[in-house]
Parts: sequence; C-alpha cells; structure tokens
Amino acid sequence: MKLGKLKRSVARIILVLGLLSVSGIVASCAGTGNESPAQSVQVIRNVTVIDGTGGPAQKGVTVVIKDGLIDAVSVDAIYDTNAEVIDGTGMTVVPGLIDMHGHLFGRGATETLPQHETYAKLFLAGGVTTVFSPGSRDPDAVIEFRRRIEAGESVGPRIHLAGRYVDKGQSVVSWIDGFGDVAEAESYFEPYLGELSALKLYTGVDRDFGKKAVEYAHRNGLFVTGHIGAMTVHEAVEIGIDGLEHGLYTITELVGEAGYPAIICATANADVDSPEATRLIRMLRDNDVYITPTTVVHLAMKGDVSVYPYDWMRFLSEQGRAVWSDLKGTVLSLPSEVRDCFDRAFENHLRFVARAHRAGVRVLAGTDPIPPMVSPGLSLHLEINYLMAAGMSIEEAINAASLSAAEVLGVDRSFGSVEKGKVADLVVIDGNVLEDPMSLFNTYRVYKSGVAFDPSELRQSAEGGIR
Ligand SMILES: [Zn+2]
Repeated sequence: MKLGKLKRSVARIILVLGLLSVSGIVASCAGTGNESPAQSVQVIRNVTVIDGTGGPAQKGVTVVIKDGLIDAVSVDAIYDTNAEVIDGTGMTVVPGLIDMHGHLFGRGATETLPQHETYAKLFLAGGVTTVFSPGSRDPDAVIEFRRRIEAGESVGPRIHLAGRYVDKGQSVVSWIDGFGDVAEAESYFEPYLGELSALKLYTGVDRDFGKKAVEYAHRNGLFVTGHIGAMTVHEAVEIGIDGLEHGLYTITELVGEAGYPAIICATANADVDSPEATRLIRMLRDNDVYITPTTVVHLAMKGDVSVYPYDWMRFLSEQGRAVWSDLKGTVLSLPSEVRDCFDRAFENHLRFVARAHRAGVRVLAGTDPIPPMVSPGLSLHLEINYLMAAGMSIEEAINAASLSAAEVLGVDRSFGSVEKGKVADLVVIDGNVLEDPMSLFNTYRVYKSGVAFDPSELRQSAEGGIR
C-alpha cells in the first residue's frame, strides 16, 4: 500500500473539511457531503473488531473509512472498487486509544522538561489519538503545540488539558506554584477557560479549598480530577470531584498521607478488604467518580525495568539515559525494608482496582509518562494488560482506554468507538488481540480522522528524542 500517496490525498480531504477540533462537533460538520475522490475510501476487510463500547468483539468485519469518518462496520459492508484495501486477516481493529493521564512533559536530568514533539509521535505510533494531560508544566506551550497539531504543522494526538496544577500554598513539587486562595486561582484560570477540559487538584488542596475550586470548575463546564493528599477520598467525593488519579497509592483513608518512599509500605499494608474500603468503593460508584490507576507508573518505583516489555531506551537521548541511571540509583538506594514492600504494594493496588471494577466503579486507562521507561503510547498497552490483570475482559479494558474516557471528556458523540458515523480514529493491530492482548504493541496502522500513519516511521523519527 502506498502510504505516502494515501496520506497526501486524505490530508487534502481533511483540509476541505476544516480543522478538526477537540470539541466534539466534528461528526456533524464533517458529514455535510463533500465530494470524495475514490482514494479517500480506505477499507480494512476481514478483521476482528473490538469496538470500544465494551461489547463482545466481532470477527470477520469490514471497516470502511470515508472522508475522515467511519462509513461502515459490518460483515457485509459494500465499498468502492477503487478503495485502498488492507486485508485484515489475523489483525484486530480497536478505536483510537485515549490516555487519560497523558502528560507531555517528562523527567529530565535535573528537572521535568517539555517533550512535546517526541511524546506526540510516540503517542500516535501507539494508536493513542487522544490524550488528557492532567496538569501541565507549561500550559501555554502545550496550547501552542496543540494549535500546531491542529494546523498540520506537527503530528500528534488530540490534546485535552487541565492546565496549571491547582495546589494550595507551597506545593510538595518545587515547580508547582500553589495558589494562596481560590479567588487567586479563579483570576488565573479565567483567560484559559476556553482551552481547558478540566482542573487538576494536587496534594495540598484541602476540603474547603477543593470545594470552591470544584464549584468554580463545574460552573465553567470543566470536570475535576485529583491527585489528593490533604483531603480524604470521602471529602473529595462529597465536594463533587469527578476523578481520582493513581489508585490505591493515593486513597488516603487506606494508606494515609505518607510521601515517597514511605507510601510504598503504607500501600503494601493497606487493607483493601476492610469495611472502610468497601464503603469507599461504593461511594465512588454511587457518585460516578472514576479512577485512573496509572499502574504502569507505580512499577517505576521498583527500579526493575524488565517489567516494561518494550524497548523504551531507544527513545532516550544521551541526556535521557542519564536520567534513567539517576532514577535507578535513587530506587536502589532505598532501604531494603522499603524495597521489600514493593511487590505487595503493587499487588494490593491491583486488588483494589479489581474490587472497584467489580463493584461498578468507572476505571480508566492512564499512564503518567514522567519516568523514562513509561513510554508514551507503548505504556498504555501495558496498562491495558494490567487492567486485565485486575479482572477486566479485553473488551472492558479497551473500553477503559476509549469510549469510557471519551464520555468523561464529553466527546463520546464523535470519538471513542468504532461505530458508523464517528470520526475515523482507529488502530489496526498486527495480531489477534483476543488471543494475545500483548499484541497491542504491534500497531500496524493508526488513523486519525482517517489520515493514515505508519507507526514504525513515527517511532523511528522519535528515536533519541526524549531529553
Ligand atoms: Zn501526573
């Protein structure tokens, strides 16, 4: 298949359709009957589809992409004889994935650094067509980068963001500037309201501060997620928070407020079967508060990189490799009694996620790609596998990384599933994901608005790019 030619012709059509926004109105304005050259029709035939709704996978399906939209998903779809056809035998189609903890900065040698271009390519190569960044180091630069992507000057996923972290007073993170009070936060955020999808509350936010911040956000159409600490989960739910990041490691009622590294043993020793845990889980479910466990970032605390089954080193610059040896040094210098807690903490975290999922809590897939081995794109596939280790079926785990996340972002009318009429954000996997969920790593083709990207090309151009 001549991908270059295909890309150009589809790109032309996309220009005709106008810039695709993240606002969820794409399907209606894109469906207004533009003439479509024959090459604009792309077909994946005889493929297994996991459609993102959580429903059972279907085999032997033909997926038709036309003018940037999904035109058909059925066993007997009819398509133009001039269409570009991929024989999908032995392959799987999933929706464009959504990383709900998809930052665009990472850990640098001495501090965190923006990694926009490289991360964006890696996200896309991994089939991640949408990221939600819960907190930015430099919101203005991310907003400008998003504009570049939308204008076709850079390649990357659709970006939703929470902007500057909301913390109270002096944050535990040196570069986060906390706000003195919520009025100060409001005047800061006022000019950003049109750019943001959410606010992110950080560890120093207490109940009173949080309550006002949530009211402000909801009044302005933003959802609120939190990496909480000073506030309990009960309090966060009471004040109307919409999501909680990092799973058991930040469930203060069960693990306390311990910082790193004490949090590792606190998490190992938490009782996730206690009546308190049961009450908390019911509370999350009854109030539709989602959790994003970011399991793959917790692995980094162990310092054992063999748990990352992909070649993350190839994307690091020399400087980035220095970051890794520095991080490894930190982990290996932890007291042995702390390191001995790691595996139990990790298993406990997964048991908590499993209980929450079984009880009906919305669990979403997110990665938090700050440490160098949590590679954008690739680590989301690993997270999906861990969600399965926590009891999800493959269909449920894909749903957590697609339609369920799109619902939280408020874009599910146009995105998040492989369904007729939706924007053609989808991923062709070279492998049978039903039989081998690890084959998610083998992305063969990624479509964003029907524009085809070659993952191996993207990954090659991202080599050595992480600072
Ligand atoms: Zn984060």
